[in-house]
Amino acid sequence: MKHVIIILTLILAVNIAYGQKPIESYTPVLKKTLSRSIQVDPRKGYAIQEVKPNTNIYVLTDGIWQSVVIVTNKGVVLIDAPESLAPNIQKAVAEVTDQPIVTLVYTHAHIDHIGGSGQLKGIPNLEIIALKGVADFLREKNDPRRLLPTKTFSGAYVLRKGDKQIDLTNPLNFHSDEGDLFVSVAKDKFLMVIDVLAPGYVPFKNLDITSNIHEYLKVFDQILAYDFDVFVGGHLTSIGDRNDVLESKEYVMDVYETVKRVHGRTDLMEVMSNAASKIGWDNKFLLFKVFLDKVIDESAAEIESRWIGRLAGVDVWAKSHASTMLLYVRWDD
Ligand SMILES: [Zn+2]
Repeated sequence: MKHVIIILTLILAVNIAYGQKPIESYTPVLKKTLSRSIQVDPRKGYAIQEVKPNTNIYVLTDGIWQSVVIVTNKGVVLIDAPESLAPNIQKAVAEVTDQPIVTLVYTHAHIDHIGGSGQLKGIPNLEIIALKGVADFLREKNDPRRLLPTKTFSGAYVLRKGDKQIDLTNPLNFHSDEGDLFVSVAKDKFLMVIDVLAPGYVPFKNLDITSNIHEYLKVFDQILAYDFDVFVGGHLTSIGDRNDVLESKEYVMDVYETVKRVHGRTDLMEVMSNAASKIGWDNKFLLFKVFLDKVIDESAAEIESRWIGRLAGVDVWAKSHASTMLLYVRWDD
């Protein structure tokens, strides 16, 4: 027994020494975040819920990914076809309408959001709308999981289907290089922007794996310029609203300002010289890493202290957020 305890203590010490926090020690998801979650029956695997009464706009989720079902009197417009949801999409749509799926819109090219489209290829005459950049990319990839678009556009496209007008707009590429869409139904004050934020949580790893922090920092104001009271972000368990966008913007700006300040006060040569006094100057990559890690660790510690009780997942991703932001602050800002 004594030996077991010693071994476990050693494993814990090694984990901590190498920066791997034991998973049991992470802060649980905040109660306020859990209490607003859409409940997904694990036996069923998905839930479909109207985003607001009398809109005929539904969010379809498995608890991790979200797509949107817009029911019109001339058929259903499906926004995204996540791979995880694909086997249940037609079943879920049939729960809320007799209308067939006639149009599929891709918000962007990422597999996790549209990689289920291949499983919808049996739907006759399915129209698939995407940005030209997304279509070009998909043609190059030739991926059977992602059906090729049948209609493409650049900039903006007004999709009129039956009694609904859906505005598709590409104001900036805040997340993926091929292009990202804003999907808005102005009459219902509905807005869908994928992979910027998750209501009640901090953004996903590396600030939602954006390929362009400069654009990502601008996207929050672009979102807030819309008149909406329902926001779908594409991930996790909740539907959001303006307050979620404001809170996520405040978090991201805090990450930016914190990293900028900590980076500004940290002397590269001093940190590298201190490290070199132990290992010499040969391993320049390692010496530089010591400097970057110092900025990341000090920034993340500050961010965690301010946000741990406000948004869920802070201690999961704060270091990755600081790391991504440091690349922008040091090399682009
Ligand atoms: Zn994505």
